[in-house]
Order: sequence, then C-alpha cells, then structure tokens
Amino acid sequence: MLAPLRLAARNPTAGARVRDFEAAVARAAERAAALRVPRDVRKALTTTAQAFAAPLEPPARARAVEASLARLEPFAAPGFAARALGRGPGEIAGIGAKRAAALEKKGLATVSDLLFRLPSRYDDRRDLVRIADLEVGRRATFVASVRTADFAPGRVGRAGFRRVLHALVSDETGSVELKWFRGGEAVKSMLEKGKALLVTGEVTRYRFSKELVHPEVEPLAEDAADGAAVATLRQIVPEYGGPEGVPPRALRRYVQGAVADYADLVEGHLPARVVAQRKLPDAAAALVAIHVPESDADPAALAARCTPAHERLVLEELYLLELGLALRRARREREPGVAIAAPAARRRRAAAALPFRPTRAQARVLDEIAADVAQPHPMNRLLQGDVGSGKTAVAFLAAIAVAEAGHQTALMAPTELLAEQHERSLRRLAEAGADATALRIALLTASVPKREQKEIRAALAAGEVDLVVGTHALVSDPVRFASLALAVIDEQHRFGVLQRQALAGKRADARAPHVLVMTATPIPRTLALTLSGELDVSILDELPPGRTPITTDVLREGEGARVVEAVRRTLARGEQVYVVYPLVEESEAVDLRAATERAARIARAFPDVRVDLVHGRLDAKERAEAMRRFERGESRILVSTTVIEVGVDVPNATLVVIEHAERFGLAQLHQLRGRVGRGAQPGTCLLVARGATDGSEARLRALLATTDGFAIAEADLAIRGPGEFLGTRQSGRLPDLHLADLVRDARLVPVAREAALATVRKDPDLARDPLLRRAVALRWGARLALADVG
Ligand code: ADP
Ligand code: MG
Repeated sequence: MLAPLRLAARNPTAGARVRDFEAAVARAAERAAALRVPRDVRKALTTTAQAFAAPLEPPARARAVEASLARLEPFAAPGFAARALGRGPGEIAGIGAKRAAALEKKGLATVSDLLFRLPSRYDDRRDLVRIADLEVGRRATFVASVRTADFAPGRVGRAGFRRVLHALVSDETGSVELKWFRGGEAVKSMLEKGKALLVTGEVTRYRFSKELVHPEVEPLAEDAADGAAVATLRQIVPEYGGPEGVPPRALRRYVQGAVADYADLVEGHLPARVVAQRKLPDAAAALVAIHVPESDADPAALAARCTPAHERLVLEELYLLELGLALRRARREREPGVAIAAPAARRRRAAAALPFRPTRAQARVLDEIAADVAQPHPMNRLLQGDVGSGKTAVAFLAAIAVAEAGHQTALMAPTELLAEQHERSLRRLAEAGADATALRIALLTASVPKREQKEIRAALAAGEVDLVVGTHALVSDPVRFASLALAVIDEQHRFGVLQRQALAGKRADARAPHVLVMTATPIPRTLALTLSGELDVSILDELPPGRTPITTDVLREGEGARVVEAVRRTLARGEQVYVVYPLVEESEAVDLRAATERAARIARAFPDVRVDLVHGRLDAKERAEAMRRFERGESRILVSTTVIEVGVDVPNATLVVIEHAERFGLAQLHQLRGRVGRGAQPGTCLLVARGATDGSEARLRALLATTDGFAIAEADLAIRGPGEFLGTRQSGRLPDLHLADLVRDARLVPVAREAALATVRKDPDLARDPLLRRAVALRWGARLALADVG
C-alpha cells in the first residue's frame, strides 16, 4: 500500500489519474490492519483507511498522502520487524507493567520469547461429552452449569486440614463434583450458581461417584449452552508449561496475545528452494498453526512437534545456526597458520618403526591431519575414537611430522595424572623405533620439581624440546615456545574455548598453531554433524586387532561375594584388577574414606598380593610410583578414584570393578570399562550398583546392551537430552537451541546444513543479503564470537 502512496507523493497528478485512488488505498490499509501486527501499526493503518474513506480534492489528497506516508514509513524501515519483536511483553494487550516485569525476570523478556514458547501439549476439546458419559481415567471436556460451590474443611495429605473447594456441576444428563485442594480462592469467583462453564480435566473415581480434581474451568457467556456457541469451544487448545510462578492459563493468554499482534512480523530466512521442495508454510503461518491450531489439525502430531509448521521453525533455527558456523569457519580459514610439509616417506618410516602396524583408520586419520597441517591456515580438527582405538599413536606420529619440519607440539591432558601417563606411553613409542621415532619429549606439570621446570622452560624456548606434555597450565603459564605449531588437546570437553584462544598467543608471530582435539567420548553423529560446521571431524572407527570383547555384569548390594570371587579368579590367572570408586566433590572426604577402607579390606582379603590406592590427593611422586608399580605388574590390584578414567593402559589388567556405578555418568562408565579388554585376554566389567539415582537404571541397561562408544553416546544423549549433554560435555561449544531438538530433529540437521553451505558458497560473507546477515548475527553473534558479522 506504500507503493501507490509513494508514487502519489512523487507525482501528485498520478493519483488523480488512478480511478478510485482513495478507495484503493483505504482497502489496502484495511487489509493490512487485519494482519497480526502490533497495535501502533494497526492504528496507523486504520487512521490511513479513514483518511481515504471518501474521494478527496487534489490539495486535500496531497495532504493526506503526506500525512499517511509520515505515519507509515517508520514501519517499513529495514529492521522494524526485528526491533518490534524485541519489544518487552508489556507491549502486548492484557499484560500490564507489573506482569511484564515479572515475565522478563523469568526469561520471557521479549515478544519473540513468547512467540517461540511452543506449547508442551494440546488439549483436544473437539469432542465435548455429556456428564453421563464421563469415563474414569480419561481426560474429558464438557459444558455444565454450577449448582453449588463452597469451601469445606478437608484433609490434605500429611499437611493436615485445609479449606477444600467443592463444586457440583450438572448438565441435562447428570452431575459431577469438582474439587480444588489448593488455589480454590482464584476459581471461586467463576463458580456462581447457574453460571455456564467449560470444564476440562481427568475424571477420577471417588468412592461410588466420579469427580475431577483441579480441572481447568472457563466461564462461558450466558447463552453458551446453545449449539452455535458450543461449536466455537470445540477446539484443539494448546497448553503451555510456564516458568514457575506463571500459571499455564495466563501464559496461554500472553502467548496468544503475542501471536495476535506480532505473528505476521516474523520473517523466514530459509531459501525459497528449500521451502518449495519441502512444501513448508511460511514462518508466520507456522507460528499460527502451532499456537492457534485449526480444528482439523492432528493434535498428536502437534504434540509430537512433527508437523510441517514445526519443521519450518526448526529448519529456520538450524539454518541460522549452520550459517553462523559456516561464517566462523570461513573466517578461520583465512587466518594465517604454519604450513608443515612432512615428506610422506618420512611419515611412513616412522609409522613402520612403531611396535605395531597402524590400523586402516589410523592411517586414514593421519593422512587427513597431514593434509590439514600442510595448509598455511590453522587446522581445527576433532579426533573421535573409542577408548583404545589408538588416538595417542596418531598424535605421536603427527608430532613427529611437526618436529621434522622444525616445529614443536604441545599435548595437554585434563589432569596431571593423565599427563604423566601420556608422557610415559609417548616415551615408550619414541624409544621403540630408534631414530625413526626419536623425539625429544618433556613433561611439564606443577608436580615437576621447580628446578627441572626451569630447565624444561628454557629448553622449550630454545627449541630443544619437540613434544611437551602437560596440563592446561601449559597455556596459562608464561611458557614460551621456540615455535609451537601443533596443540593436541586430550579430552576436549574439559577445555573451554578460552584456552584455545590462549594457545594462539603462544607464538611470537601472528600465526595460529594447528589444533587437534582428541576425545574418547564420541559425540553422537547428529551432534558431530552440527559441530562439523566449524570443526573437521576425523573418526577412528576401528579398534586395533586382537582386542577381546568385554563381559559386563551388574551386581546389586549384597552380592559382594561374587566380586571377591571374580577378583580371586583374575589374580589366579596372573592378571590384574582395577577397583574404581566415585569421588564426588561435595562429599570428597567421605568418598575418600570409603575408598581407603575398601583398599584396606581388599588388602586383608588378598594378603599375598600388593594392593595400591591412588587418588588425586596423593602427591605426584607417590601417585606416579603407584601407577608405575601397577604398569610393571608389581601391584596386582589398583584401587582408585576416577583418576584412571582416561588414558591408563595396562593390557594385563582384565577386571574392572566399578563401585557405586549408579553415581557415574554413562560416558564415564564407558571410559572406565575401556580400561580392560586391551590385551589378549578377555576383559570383565562388574558394575556394582548400591541404590539408584536419576536415570541410573537406564545408564546401566545401555552399558549392558553394547560396548560401541557411538551407540552409548547416542543413548547418553537420549537419556540426558541435548541441553545437559552439551552443557556438561561441551560447555561453550554448541550454543543453545530453542526449538530444535537434535535427537528428534536429527534428520533436519543435514537439510539445514546443506542449505547453509549452498548459501555461503554463492555469497561467502552474506554481503548480498544484509537481512540474513543481521539475523545470523542477532541469533548467534555473541555465542559464536562472530563480532565482525552484522
Ligand atoms: P586411546 O587413547 O584411543 O584410548 P591408545 O592410544 O591409548 O588409545 O591405544 C590403546 C592401546 O592400543 C595402546 O596400548 C596402544 O599402544 C595400542 N595400539 C594403538 N594402535 C595400535 C595398533 N594399530 N595396533 C595394535 N595396538 C595399537
Ligand atoms: Mg588415550
């Protein structure tokens, strides 16, 4: 409608030539005012419609044109829709300032937050029933009129007596009782004698009759009982799970208000090709379909969030995320890095000198890494491999290539203990192949004597060390490198983004080191796909030959004798045993005492073998000695807190007993189990469950079902949900998704990803689509550190 107005403003005589100019403008304004737009926009539109309600003389028309343009142009300015959606909830009809402030505090700070608060379930009120037909155990909706409503004292659980609201309602077929044990005061005003109500709730049995406890009631107009009005009640009604303190029914009103006034401002960004191909509704229509379902919609599909409307919104969200990741990756690919070209012959000679033949998977991953580090841009690669798949060997061969080119590698582990273990196994590999694998290796942790630390620092700065192993202190310390070119980070979930940035500061020049992140906790494929927008992913999907399957068993409280028997048999075969205790920070002292007592009991039960106890409170020297004794077979039983979680490698250990298995996470249990089954002898894992915690039974079942790390990661994701999964394992890595659920919507991830890649291929910086660019920046800019986008 702005177009004819603008034309008329530029060329006053043109308006005269358009027949019925005023009527056309008025009609267009009225149509626009009927859209779901904010009240200020609607007001400007109706004012415009009124201004052109009758034919105008040229001077009056010119004035009306000018005034209307002044009124409407601000709403047509780029970015208006986004700004309007960012308004506070107080802008919505029916939400006062106090309510608005309360909503803002509870995370519903904008109109957009309300619009994208999707219903948690739907109430199907299309089939109104008669009271005589109410069935016990089913949800039902019916129209009834109030006969009586009163408070009476009643017993409420253990809390004692309280005022209970009783109401008797009836229709022409019978009557039924409604009860409110709490919140009755708020309902009472609706329950005047003779008033018509719409009642929804679950029907339960009480003694010889039926009743509804805490039903939802809606007052109806006086004539509501007649057919026409009842028809409008036959709807699918969305139900919203509100934050605490926001009653679900009130939240429904707020969300519906937001939809009525703002839905048509929501723009979609998906490429038209994808929308057409998948026959998706536009974004505004999708919101309406979800919040105000048509009466012929499928409530089950709505509740399962698998309608075309949901698909549209989820794809919108994933598309912006994938675009953000693609932009970040593109930017990274322009950063300067250290090009390392190790001759293939040399790489092969080092590989051939190892005490084993690399698996096909290892060889493939090494090729991928070699191709990456040969580029003059920093590598950013995630190496996923199940426990025992040989990640350390891969890192070792990569370090050799780096050393060959005259640069240095740093390998960082999450704990000192793991750093020490890594250093020992890397040294073994280095010593195995004479000069083909010779590497100058150093260990640098807080436990290394100060004087030695000083020497190592000096050697690193002088370029006399090729590979330094340590904890993350390596990056926070004032350690200087002659030329750090590769940072290997083991178990990346314990490192944040910050440490990686700190790494970049470790070089004197502006080039960033290559980064290889190793994880033994496979990220489920669905997540890996999403992450791969910014990380390249290599997968070691093959275990070295000769591995034997692990038998897993769950034991309950009181089956201690079976544990003792299993230990006895393992020792009799000359093999070794791990006993693992959980160490929870809040109860560290108690846990430690339990582990210590257990170690003493085991030592008494098996007096002819040495039993060692290892935990994080031991000083580094004692700890290293105990580990070394176990590696050499001098001690036969190692009782430990979770410190052996990753990295311990003693092929002769064949039994792992995990005490209080219910307290460990699934990924952690999988890691612990992976300590056995590393040699030629079959491994056994005994999970001792002493009680149950949230989800513990599901975790134990998953472990019994499979030893495949990927399957376990998928199960973990399903048990915990992506939020928590990512929260603890990936904090700072994958930004929050509001609508998409990476498990439920896994199939849409590649669709969004391909669409994003196609877009970026044509328009690498989104320079040609400033609206899209701004949408990405708005949604993900801060989380993806895309400071320069938008
Ligand atoms: P991860 O770190 O992935 O858990 P490791 O690198 O610790 O696995 O390797 C586990 C064990 O397998 C080590 O004893 C290692 O020496 C051995 N190993 C690694 N690669 C091979 C291979 N290709 N063939 C045989 N043994 C291997
Ligand atoms: Mg390892």
